Amino acid sequence: MKILVINAGSSSIKYQMLDMTDEAVLASGLVERIGEPTGKLVYKAFPDSDQESKTVLEQPIPDHETGMKLVIELLTDADKGVIKDISEITAVGHRIVHGGDKFHAPSLVDDVVEQAIEDTAPMAPLHNMAHLAGIRTAKALFPGVPQVVVFDTAFHQTMPPEAYMYALPYEMYEKQRVRRYGFHGTSHKYVSGEAARLMGKAPEECNVITLHLGNGCSMSAVKGGECVDTSMGLTPLAGLIMGTRCGDVDPAVYAFLERSQGLTLSEIDSIMNKRSGLLGICGMNDMRDIHAAIEKGDEKAALALNMVTYRNRQYIGSYMASLGGKVDAIVFTAGIGENDDIVRAKTVEGLEAMGIKLDPAKNAGRATEPKAVHAADSRVQIWVIPTNEELEIARQTRDLVAGA
Ligand code: ADP
Repeated sequence: MKILVINAGSSSIKYQMLDMTDEAVLASGLVERIGEPTGKLVYKAFPDSDQESKTVLEQPIPDHETGMKLVIELLTDADKGVIKDISEITAVGHRIVHGGDKFHAPSLVDDVVEQAIEDTAPMAPLHNMAHLAGIRTAKALFPGVPQVVVFDTAFHQTMPPEAYMYALPYEMYEKQRVRRYGFHGTSHKYVSGEAARLMGKAPEECNVITLHLGNGCSMSAVKGGECVDTSMGLTPLAGLIMGTRCGDVDPAVYAFLERSQGLTLSEIDSIMNKRSGLLGICGMNDMRDIHAAIEKGDEKAALALNMVTYRNRQYIGSYMASLGGKVDAIVFTAGIGENDDIVRAKTVEGLEAMGIKLDPAKNAGRATEPKAVHAADSRVQIWVIPTNEELEIARQTRDLVAGA
């Protein structure tokens, strides 16, 4: 069974073709700068485990359909291709950022599902409309092939009301569905499931706190395989301090800046999403640059690192409480979580009294494979588990199609 996973952005398409008999990646790549004067396509093929080929095209790619057609040409190419014909594709799995509270699980695309994704678009306008373009392109180019949508928000739909409700007038929830949704759900589901497997338990048997620390950062409390709380909210701005996003701030900052600086709400929204977080504090948003600057004595870079890791630590404490103190593992994943041993160490620093103790030697360095990094006498296990959202989308797509 071969599954094509598509993550369509407003000017890009990330794709991966997997053979689900052994979950091997057959091909992967990215189409970017769609609609710009020169577009770019990267195609990597792995027809066998010991073979790899890379193709890069630079040419105008006016729309998603043109980009996807180029990908299909390469997938079926006599030399570089990994399939003979698109009829070998069993299903297409699409990543969708926002499913609102309509989607608790993956769904087969039909008119009602497409409409629901469009209806949810005001909460994630750039993302959801781009995903719809991806779905419509795939429907046209793969006629008769089941299209499955997998939502970043779905895993968090098990949160209880006390975790997802905001203390705003109730009609804002009833009429506009203003509430916490949470994001990165596919990643949180994947790494919490992998943590259970690596600890030799079923997901139902363990409680896990998952830290997805990339450009965007979020944390989830996962109880018996189900999410009970997560740090992002109505939008991906809430919670942890991120590369360019502020995370939690006093909501009255909006009104204050409007009154004192005459800024409009959309200007403040843009500042909080694009010019805040690490970038706002020290002028850099890549953790590698921040460590290099700290080495040279940059105090703002040191402050930014301390702020990020303090916020992470506070959320761990909060989720320990949400899980009644019964936590089997803490999991680090994504660009920073997988690669940055300093952030991991500073995040759990001083939590020994809560049974959380790192082994500095095991923690050292990057992780391309899952690894345990806790000390032998740590009550809570600590894991670094590389995330794999494409594989999780492919698994969910396979399960839905197989059961359908
Ligand atoms: P996205 O959220 O866009 O998927 P990633 O999960 O790829 O992002 O994370 C990107 C971030 O990971 C970078 O901005 C950088 O801060 C961090 N990162 C990547 N590699 C390293 C590394 N070797 N050491 C420290 N941080 C890293």
